[in-house]
Amino acid sequence: MDYYSAKITALIDELSRLPGIGAKSAGRLAFHLLNLPQEDVDRLTDTIQQAKRTVCYCEECCTLTDSKLCPICASPARDHTQIMVVENTRDLAAYEKTGKYNGVYHVLHGAISPALGIGPADIKLKELMKRLQGDVSEVIIATNSSLEGETTAMYLSKLIKPTGIKVTRIASGVPVGGDLEYIDEVTLLRALEGRTQL
Ligand code: ZN
Repeated sequence: MDYYSAKITALIDELSRLPGIGAKSAGRLAFHLLNLPQEDVDRLTDTIQQAKRTVCYCEECCTLTDSKLCPICASPARDHTQIMVVENTRDLAAYEKTGKYNGVYHVLHGAISPALGIGPADIKLKELMKRLQGDVSEVIIATNSSLEGETTAMYLSKLIKPTGIKVTRIASGVPVGGDLEYIDEVTLLRALEGRTQL
């Protein structure tokens, strides 16, 4: 069903590969882009290309950054002996937004999921274990409360406990109506403050 010319169809096809973009949205986006001034489209494609070319994993915590060390790992003001383990960079950003956590992070880029065939070797676990050979006083496991998150937390605690390093797990927060952004921060803080030793 070629309603459009080949180039337009190709653009719609590319856009519909993006997560959360169905065929309808892809069509809307494609025509929006085609109606933009050329310089706006150039700026968008340049931004995507530059981000893709320069963004890499932080050598220390594996978060996505555009320098060797992310700003958190590079900061002497942070407590580098306290490591919070999160599933992705967005979770890191959520905790940073609370402004109340002064330790550093480790980003796994995923969680263990036997159902999806994601094992310990598929996430940034090796990198974490290597960091634990340094001066670390506490590992706070802040993976999600999903099945995958809990599986990962259990696996991590079993792995870390023999090293003698203190391992804690954040409490799972219960959101209670109201402004979502605000509640998220409060919930996150409560979860952090209510963490228990594993
Ligand atoms: Zn880092």
